[in-house]
Amino acid sequence: MKIHVTGWEEREVEINLPSSSFKVEELRGRVRGRIVLLKREERIEAEGEIEFTLSLTCSRCLETFEVHKRERIRHFFLRKERLPKEKELSSEDAETTYYEEEVIDMLPVLRDTILLSIPLKPLCREECKGLCPVCGKNLNEGECEHVKKKEEEIDPRWEKLKALLEKEE
Ligand SMILES: [Zn+2]
Ligand SMILES: [Zn+2]
Repeated sequence: MKIHVTGWEEREVEINLPSSSFKVEELRGRVRGRIVLLKREERIEAEGEIEFTLSLTCSRCLETFEVHKRERIRHFFLRKERLPKEKELSSEDAETTYYEEEVIDMLPVLRDTILLSIPLKPLCREECKGLCPVCGKNLNEGECEHVKKKEEEIDPRWEKLKALLEKEE
């Protein structure tokens, strides 16, 4: 996604790229969005939003699931020769890339945004029950004998304790 930086002050760039352009394993379908580029002398500000779909594997139950993401983009491009003079800009709340030869490339910026949106421990749902540690059954699909057994073991004892406490009163 190379964009020439000459001949405009402000421009809108429509994003509609296949996931194969990004080489991100988890990415599915297309990446869509809109970025506004604002040029202020040697500095270009990119701001916008992209949408995409990730295919993830749940860290608890190991099922794969898809999730739709919407991520904000905010990025600065600075001309390379200006690096020492405008270095203080990099301390702002946005990533900065230095460009040469009147061309900026949006693709690495979009790719980084996608990579950062991938959770370290994906969960298919907040309350995912995971797998039974004994037989490996997916407990979201129903209980197995091990889970039931555990409950049966605890309940009678609790009943006994309750009865004892009641007697003492
Ligand atoms: Zn899960
Ligand atoms: Zn089990």
